[in-house]
Amino acid sequence: MKTSEIPVKPATRRYRAFGQYMKDLYHAPVYKVNVDAGFTCPNRDGSIATGGCIYCNNDSFRPAACTSSLSLHQQIEKGIPYLRSRYGAEKFIVYFQPFTNTYASVDILERLYREALNNPGVVGLAIGTRPDCIDRAKIALLERLAREAFILVEYGLQSVYDATLQFINRGHDYACFQEAVRLTAGTGVHVGAHLILGFPTETRDQMLAMAGEISRQPIEFLKIHQLQVVKGTALADHYEKAPFPTFTYEEYIAMLADFLELLSPDIILQRLFAAAPDDILVAPVWNKTRSEVLRDLDAYMEQRGTHQGKKTAA
Ligand code: SF4
Repeated sequence: MKTSEIPVKPATRRYRAFGQYMKDLYHAPVYKVNVDAGFTCPNRDGSIATGGCIYCNNDSFRPAACTSSLSLHQQIEKGIPYLRSRYGAEKFIVYFQPFTNTYASVDILERLYREALNNPGVVGLAIGTRPDCIDRAKIALLERLAREAFILVEYGLQSVYDATLQFINRGHDYACFQEAVRLTAGTGVHVGAHLILGFPTETRDQMLAMAGEISRQPIEFLKIHQLQVVKGTALADHYEKAPFPTFTYEEYIAMLADFLELLSPDIILQRLFAAAPDDILVAPVWNKTRSEVLRDLDAYMEQRGTHQGKKTAA
């Protein structure tokens, strides 16, 4: 089913949120179970580079139960009861999160993806990957799976500007992302993208211009978050030697509202901010909970009388 076929219900939030979208689709609360299937990344193992993206520390975004020391089945078995009791979750998307989750042969991918889907309550997969780790054979596999389940591929992009992609050592350019999205769109596989706002290589206007650019791509889902400098990364070394401004909390809330106004109203927002653990976060330090950020964004957008897509052409 296409995202545009799901009606937008009146919501307190002034943008299309992933949780509500999935609830409308499955008539039940749907939550992600994060898993580490033991993949690596070509930007770390030497295939493309060894240093990885300069901001990358996979410990900054994965829950403790998401570890390749447990089998895929064990991680799912551990994650589901927790999500049921903590959040009242009823259905589940298995989220292949750390590193590059299409970086293996089609046979290995099929075994892992089917193993994940073969758990009661699991209605689909979200697969985080790089746009240079997809090809027609892998898309064909995902297309087959998408006839049976909800399959979402999330392409890491971070910026549409090649100068930034070079600065952060992504190892691919914007054209590579566009080609991956072109291969995926229209196959029944849902397409997502991931952007970071706040790289020191970009002006505020350039960051805002990404909303229009990404809206012109055939993507249905988007994650955006503020740049976070975390320990153990090349970016942290760079920041220590040559500090650059990061978003204050108030600046970022205003930035998000501006960005959402310029974003297509059809795109579903999967994430709006990042929250690295306190013990590894260098900057910016906000000390805000998830619900506080969402509450403050709502209040700010309400005060401005704005909503997602307000400034896009009808
Ligand atoms: S592609 Fe992803 S996993 Fe690989 S280095 Fe970059 S951020 Fe890290």
